Amino acid sequence: MPILEIRDVHKWYGDFHVLNGISETVEKGEVVFICGPSGSGKSTFIRCLNRLEAIQQGSILLEGVDIYDKNLDVNELRSEVGMVFQQFNLYPHLSVLDNITLAPIKVRKLPKHKAVANAMELLERVGILNQAHKYPIQLSGGQQQRVAIARALAMQPKVMLFDEPTSALDPEMVNEVLNVMKDLASDGMTMMCVTHEMAFAKEVADRIIFMDHGVTLEKASPEVFFTNPQHERTKAFLKEIL
Ligand code: ADP
Ligand code: MG
Repeated sequence: MPILEIRDVHKWYGDFHVLNGISETVEKGEVVFICGPSGSGKSTFIRCLNRLEAIQQGSILLEGVDIYDKNLDVNELRSEVGMVFQQFNLYPHLSVLDNITLAPIKVRKLPKHKAVANAMELLERVGILNQAHKYPIQLSGGQQQRVAIARALAMQPKVMLFDEPTSALDPEMVNEVLNVMKDLASDGMTMMCVTHEMAFAKEVADRIIFMDHGVTLEKASPEVFFTNPQHERTKAFLKEIL
């Protein structure tokens, strides 16, 4: 069974048809990158995958379960489908450690000592163990984004979503975040990532999706996508950003 099955999803903002029939299947361990022009619906699409947005038509199944089922616990869903945003979105009044342990303790009912031990392990994995007792404002952007990744991982998600995770970072901090993502991908995490980091996508993606005007216009392996794109709009996009 695929981990995610997205079937003919449509969404409107008022009269504006922002997602116009999206269908995708994501297998366990797959790393899928989404690119496309600004305003094409990439963020909206990815936010639908953990119900940060409502959809008006179609369905999204996580391991066969309809995530829009009205009986589904949305907090549980969001812990199973971790999300990392452009703007980190850490809790400013909580230490790094508390940012990471909050949900495991509250949602998963993990004993505190266990949650702390897991968090320390994750902080080591993302290379900032020595920052555990600081507050987000005391960290660089790259460090904050690594905390955000560790926080999502603390819930042992089935899928990780990233929406332009390095776009708000100073250039010298981009690689420290991309390296963490690369490690995750090679550890077998199922990932969907919106990015403009094309060199990174080329290196890490199993598959690349090009979105334009609310549709997935082109889907291909990185080899094919970068060397032999089929659509004129994909060619124009690549020409502009490469
Ligand atoms: P992308 O991430 O590809 O830049 P978005 O998904 O953010 O695109 O936005 C797609 C389109 O939907 C844009 O035209 C944007 O202005 C519009 N949009 C996004 N969010 C809203 C909203 N909450 N209400 C109305 N329109 C929105
Ligand atoms: Mg966006």
